[in-house]
Amino acid sequence: MSTTAENKIETLETLEERKDFIVCKKGNKDKKIKCDTESIAGAMSQRACVYCGARVVLNPITDAYHLIHGPIGCASYTWDLRGSLTSGEETFRTSFSTDLRENNIIFGGEGKLRGAIDEIVENYNAKLIFIYSTCVVGVIGDDLKAVAREAEKKYGIRVIPVESSGFIGSKSAGYKAGCNALLEIMDRDGDKEKVKGINFLGDFNLAGEMWIIESYFRKMGLNLLAKITGDSSYENLKMATKASMNIVQCAGSMNYLAENMKARYGIPSMKVSFFGIEDTVTSLKSIAYASGDKEIIKRTEEFVKEMRESTEKELAPYRSRVAGKKVAIYVGGGFKAISLIKQFNDLGIKTVMVGTQTGREEEYEVIRKLADEDTIILDDANPAELEKFMLDKGADILVGGVKERPLAYKLGVSFIDHNHERKHALCGFEGSLNFAKEVDLTVNSPVWDIVNEKGEI
Ligand code: SF4
Repeated sequence: MSTTAENKIETLETLEERKDFIVCKKGNKDKKIKCDTESIAGAMSQRACVYCGARVVLNPITDAYHLIHGPIGCASYTWDLRGSLTSGEETFRTSFSTDLRENNIIFGGEGKLRGAIDEIVENYNAKLIFIYSTCVVGVIGDDLKAVAREAEKKYGIRVIPVESSGFIGSKSAGYKAGCNALLEIMDRDGDKEKVKGINFLGDFNLAGEMWIIESYFRKMGLNLLAKITGDSSYENLKMATKASMNIVQCAGSMNYLAENMKARYGIPSMKVSFFGIEDTVTSLKSIAYASGDKEIIKRTEEFVKEMRESTEKELAPYRSRVAGKKVAIYVGGGFKAISLIKQFNDLGIKTVMVGTQTGREEEYEVIRKLADEDTIILDDANPAELEKFMLDKGADILVGGVKERPLAYKLGVSFIDHNHERKHALCGFEGSLNFAKEVDLTVNSPVWDIVNEKGEI
């Protein structure tokens, strides 16, 4: 049975409690968006759970052992779902679980956790084990800290509890739990002697982005110390405390860590984004000038000039093929949404809807400034709202992650994965070109010719 787009808009209503999370500049000049808070019960948020947030931060550490203390279902969030690339070990591709059952829920699961740690140590050469708390562990109250302390003493390795049981908040609380685990490494094992060099916080090397940016730093003459956490290792993370500056890309997940590193080790931080030509150029130059090194500044100016010119030339044909389309953006963090609006503007594509799962007030302020008068801005949206506004605004493209893909296809709208399922890098100059190619391929695909205007084949 078919439903027309018009009917869908009429029949879908936004929950009363959700109205403060949605704004449109037109007629709402001074209304601030509600954000960075708990999801509304029953609103079917697109956000992932606390434990998933912690794994986003910690999973890319290539030589770490990830032991999930909980039912086997929680352990399904593995490298296969949240892939990232490695230039070193591949340990992180395997996950471990205590597979808690009813008996353990009733009588406690600490024994099983001890047994799982013993098994990992007996069978592998583990130096670093993260033990994750899940919802049920939060309910039964197993003492992860005590078990971890005991295991560290017994085996002389690092066993770090990650306090990520489901009831302490949303995915953002999981980011914090992941960052606290990183601080555990830095506090105890970090080398405090300062050197000239920077840490890169908030890139997870999903499709080789860390390597692209690392290659730019090499050309600029910059020393990259710790990669947090894409393509990192235990040894690499220990160097983080030596850095003279932190550059922070994914602020949603890494701001907490950056603030703590400033307070504990005196490392200042700077926000960057390597998505889109404009943001890449601005970020590279800002880093170079912050270094205060004349040679680095000179090399950077030359490098960005050359890269900008050659990329602009290659981008030109794509601009003419995609200009005039309309895009809806729904991504995890605010920094990515900001860069995407700029990137689409550059391609001549108007952003008609933009939202994030964990954006913060200051990021929404920037989004508001960049957005058109009639752009819908929404925080922590649900599928019904995304559908309503995409149809309402006539979006041709949706940019999102794995959870948004089916929605786009059901509506007969093209989709761009800007999250962990993609296999090509979207950052830096190379990424800007990949992005334009993907927009062109997706939105100009012949498939849309056979999808009727109601979004049905
Ligand atoms: S930690 Fe809780 S919400 Fe997350 S996967 Fe496990 S049961 Fe589900």
